[in-house]
Amino acid sequence: MNFKTPDHNDLKYFKQLCGDRVFAGELIKEDYTHDEMKIYGTYMPDVVIEAETTEEVAEVLKYCNDYNIAVTPRGAGTGLCGGCTALYGGVLLSLIRMNRVLEIDRKNMTATVQAGLLLMDFIDLLTAEKLFYPPDPGEKSATLGGNVMTNAGGMRAVRYGVTRDYVKAMTAVLPGGEIIHTGGKLSKNSSGYCIRNILIGSEGTLAVVTEVILKILPRPEYGMTVLVPFGSIKKAVSVVADILSAGLNPTAVEFMQLEVLGLVREYLGKSFPDSNAPSYLLISIDAEDEETGWKRISKLSALLMDLGAEDVFYADTDERKESLWTPRGAFLEAIKSSSLEMDECDVVVPVGKVEEFVEFLSDLAELTPLRINYFGHAGDGNLHIYICYDGGDRAQWQNQCDEIMKKLYEKALEVGGQVSGEHGIGHAKVPYLKDFIEIPEFELMKKIKLSFDPKGILNPGKVIGNIEK
Ligand SMILES: Cc1cc2nc3c(=O)[nH]c(=O)nc-3n(C[C@H](O)[C@H](O)[C@H](O)COP(=O)(O)OP(=O)(O)OC[C@H]3O[C@@H](n4cnc5c(N)ncnc54)[C@H](O)[C@@H]3O)c2cc1C
Repeated sequence: MNFKTPDHNDLKYFKQLCGDRVFAGELIKEDYTHDEMKIYGTYMPDVVIEAETTEEVAEVLKYCNDYNIAVTPRGAGTGLCGGCTALYGGVLLSLIRMNRVLEIDRKNMTATVQAGLLLMDFIDLLTAEKLFYPPDPGEKSATLGGNVMTNAGGMRAVRYGVTRDYVKAMTAVLPGGEIIHTGGKLSKNSSGYCIRNILIGSEGTLAVVTEVILKILPRPEYGMTVLVPFGSIKKAVSVVADILSAGLNPTAVEFMQLEVLGLVREYLGKSFPDSNAPSYLLISIDAEDEETGWKRISKLSALLMDLGAEDVFYADTDERKESLWTPRGAFLEAIKSSSLEMDECDVVVPVGKVEEFVEFLSDLAELTPLRINYFGHAGDGNLHIYICYDGGDRAQWQNQCDEIMKKLYEKALEVGGQVSGEHGIGHAKVPYLKDFIEIPEFELMKKIKLSFDPKGILNPGKVIGNIEK
């Protein structure tokens, strides 16, 4: 794809607009050349602009559209598929300075925030107000704009859904610089095409989101977690469908291998309260009061024992819950730090097929010479699989890794799954997406991209890859 490389005059224009928040050449931080998966390549933008207002974003986009300069929107850069990297150079447009909470509206139970607000800062603020934003992706230093643009999921999706379910409205800037306000503080809305829903999960390829109105909830009064050991990973996942259909409405149902717990112990220096079984489920329940919570937990425990659990460990104090969820939150980082490099697969399969998929995966992991670590959101069918490079012939590892990935995606397709449950496509997963989407739907995606972005300047090469204009 042919884009203009910004020159001296372009830089002068950007500096007039955004002053010392414009960086070029050696002033560009190395961090801006990649996301959390360096294995998908490092790409140096020609210019980095840290925008502070929607109007600045609009001016930058209008200018770049007029002069055919590629623009890559970026939040905190915690993505896992190379979505926020400047594949074609040009402008990297960072939203990280747009980090204010604009309003907490208790009457409508909404929060209006700028796109660059970090999830962890939002959680802290809401917790102090006894309020609750349910989406719970593992990386709390991501921005809310990044969460919206990847439709981030997380541990509580089983009960509460994903980011999409909490986005009521947004302010976004189209590639030509037009500012749109889509959605509202509404509980229902059947007024025309839902542009908001097209933008959610579009990974910065259609528009740059600058503000979001999010639905918030009162904080649940009571929460409890159980750690449940099983004799094998296959046994652990085999009970998930029964737990979900028992009407107990769990908040999270996570599965994990003993091997990953060992890596977390090394990484955090903290052990899980139990680490004698080959695999575990971690299940949490929210309730309106303690009595209801205990009733549901007791039913759940009895069911788990009937289904073949080896034990049930309760965590009802903050300290005990912390001893489970802190290590759980560090799985990805622990695996990453244990290997020289790793590739990731984030497939999602129907919940009723998790057992079949995990059986396939664990057999595959036993047969291959490569180290495969995995864990996942068993309750919503989303698995995270890491193929680790621990040294030796790098080219050979890559070939073997590609073969394993191919098998995993083929199996996901066979059981009715999709390429990504929550991390997105970026540019790393583009080759797989086409296999999962029928031609008419893929063609429709291309037309959507072109109607938002006729010149193709916004995050080129991502999600649907390069398209002819
Ligand atoms: C340790 C770890 C754990 C994680 N756990 C989870 C998890 O449990 N669930 C989950 O869903 N993800 C998880 N992630 C992935 C990552 O945190 C999410 O994808 C997150 O939503 C990315 O937000 P970000 O601000 O870092 O976005 P970036 O990485 O900067 O960008 C992600 C994509 O969104 C686009 N984008 C960002 N901001 C905007 C904007 N304002 N307007 C338009 N486009 C924009 C970018 O162009 C890019 O395509 C994890 C990552 C790590 C490192």
